[in-house]
Amino acid sequence: LFANVTADNVETTDPADLSRLRKLRNIGISAHIDSGKTTLTERVLYYTGRIKAIHEVRGKDGEGAKMDSMELERERGITIQSAATYCNWNWEGHGDYNINIIDTPGHVDFTIEVERALRVLDGAILVLCGVSGVQSQTITVDRQMRRYNVPRISFINKLDRVGANPFSIIEQIRQKLKITAAAIQIPIGLEDNLKGVVDLIKWKAYYNEGNRGDKVIEKEIPEELIKLASEKRQELIENLADVDDQIADIFLSEGTPTSQQLMDAVRRSTVANKFSPVLMGSAFKNTGVQKALDAVCAFLPNPSEVHNTALDLNQKEAKVDLLPYSKNPFVGLAFKLEDGKYGQLTYIRVYQGALKRGSFVTNSKTLKKVKVPRLVRMHSNEMEDVEEVGAGEICALFGVDCSSGDTFTDGVLNYSLTSMFVPDSVISLS
Ligand code: GDP
Repeated sequence: LFANVTADNVETTDPADLSRLRKLRNIGISAHIDSGKTTLTERVLYYTGRIKAIHEVRGKDGEGAKMDSMELERERGITIQSAATYCNWNWEGHGDYNINIIDTPGHVDFTIEVERALRVLDGAILVLCGVSGVQSQTITVDRQMRRYNVPRISFINKLDRVGANPFSIIEQIRQKLKITAAAIQIPIGLEDNLKGVVDLIKWKAYYNEGNRGDKVIEKEIPEELIKLASEKRQELIENLADVDDQIADIFLSEGTPTSQQLMDAVRRSTVANKFSPVLMGSAFKNTGVQKALDAVCAFLPNPSEVHNTALDLNQKEAKVDLLPYSKNPFVGLAFKLEDGKYGQLTYIRVYQGALKRGSFVTNSKTLKKVKVPRLVRMHSNEMEDVEEVGAGEICALFGVDCSSGDTFTDGVLNYSLTSMFVPDSVISLS
């Protein structure tokens, strides 16, 4: 049967594996219905080059928005339905990052499906409507993420709409979601005049220009916004001082943190899930989306920063740590099954070790050993065959018979990642 090789689970020192992990993000995008989750996802796929067309801007408030063509409709359908989409983002000055966007079902009830999606996320973007703010489903999805200790950045969307009020929405985030939050951006203009965002950390203005906001132009902060930006930067520092010792020390000695110190503190406190940085924009008007992608890379944790555990079935289901390094024995979770035209597609999160095409994996529930005939990465409307994926990655398998929620291992470890879902812990809003 299974040998006990837990002792072989070691921290890696392989620099290539570590730098791969540092540039990997597994994220979800969550929102109250109608806040713009679909639109934001679509923009993200557009700016990362995954889809070639987006909703054209027509009329106000999304009214009259039409698809470019049938092709777009088809693309959009596939895009949004895919359980996980792999894309790349070049974070300015930091190189290419790989981002897996995992579809998080927006169920109001805490179902096994929601649970599994949350389990494979390392971070999330919480999208809020810039007019309606925190709504019932925002509270629900936020609670669900909190339960899984998923750090989140907040994106206040629809700032082009009449009545948009981002700062009152930050207040709602603090009051209703009970998390320390502060703006790391302020909008340049509002409603019809929305043009871009001021980055309070870098202390620069970023304008979206060109067709579909493709170009992000860095400029100095406009004169008329300096006062507000200074106040909001101070508010950011004060909020960070509550959750970060280094900023607290600087704040108490009446010093001013540098951009780098602020950047590091936002990252530390977001990864530790003590703080939510708030971003601004309008997905529909193509404002602030690229900066949101930068923030995903800058502030959300990589897989090596997230604590994941499994049950060791050899040791009376003792909880064991999973170490997301490619050299360790393979452990992965089948978190979603999809029936496609090529047969059953099984989405896997690799928690540790690497998964190779042609290798054998063992289902820890059925104890069946199966060969991995085909391994793919999903790129919204295309899939890419790959030979191997490393620890922390999300991929999909063809030709493997299993159920959603099953754990696969290298056949040596006898770990189970099977759901810790308990029926009486259903969260719903009453
Ligand atoms: P979801 O239900 O959260 O996925 O929201 P959708 O992305 O489907 O957006 C709901 C509606 O709001 C659609 O009509 C969108 O075109 C519109 N919408 C999304 N983002 C924005 C935005 O930034 N500004 C405006 N004015 N409308 C938006």
